[in-house]
Amino acid sequence: MWILLAVLTALASLSGFSMEAASAGPRESGLDFSPTRASLETLRARGLEPTGLRPVYPAGVTCRRANSFFADRTRGDNSMRTPRFYHGFHGGLDIPAPDGTPILAIADGAVVSKKPGVEDGIGGIEIVLQHAPADTGFPVWLYSQYKHLKDMPALPVGERVRMGQQIALTGATGTYGHYGPQGSFHLHLTTFASPDDRFEARLFFHPPNGSWIDPLAAYRGLPLDTRAVRALPGDAKSVPIPHLIEGEGVVPEKSRLIWPYACRRS
Ligand SMILES: [Zn+2]
Repeated sequence: MWILLAVLTALASLSGFSMEAASAGPRESGLDFSPTRASLETLRARGLEPTGLRPVYPAGVTCRRANSFFADRTRGDNSMRTPRFYHGFHGGLDIPAPDGTPILAIADGAVVSKKPGVEDGIGGIEIVLQHAPADTGFPVWLYSQYKHLKDMPALPVGERVRMGQQIALTGATGTYGHYGPQGSFHLHLTTFASPDDRFEARLFFHPPNGSWIDPLAAYRGLPLDTRAVRALPGDAKSVPIPHLIEGEGVVPEKSRLIWPYACRRS
């Protein structure tokens, strides 16, 4: 039995699918990451719980500010999120910005997925970057997913991008259900961390062995894991936001992650 299992596992890894994926039938992995089917247990086990982290924006410059945080039950307009998706827990960070505002890569990485949006446009048009440990200095693989884009980014899958490079334009795609025909122009940023570089990008993007992390945890630095972040003392939960200042450069200078919108000298 063990030999059979070992052979199957080897075959599965050769073919790029995990045993979980191979045995899970219609699901994409052993755990179901679908917004409408993921169980509460899966969400918790995979890090989608409030962390208590809060951003501290830099003084002397103007930055676009988030108005709905990781695992929040409310939207940026304070309305309750529908329990239809992820039991009402927000999978990322929402940052409002005007139509067409450039969105920047939060770190060096590579484009691994682009999608027009699924299930009546939930999430709208999206692009996903994969950040190797060498790109961020983290001991894990990081993914950044940018949603509600104005149109499909021209960057091809497989292309390397640099931190701060414009990768997309702000839109409102996938927001028309709640916000009506005018939509809500904002960026939704989801981040995942994974011990390996495997991801599934069929219907819903996710790393099968990875977890959601609070994007603010990525800006704060280790630990990234939601359980560890939740356990941090209150005074460790304020997160200075590393950023790019238009026409100047990155602050702090050696930061390997930045806010997805440029800040302006005010
Ligand atoms: Zn969002």
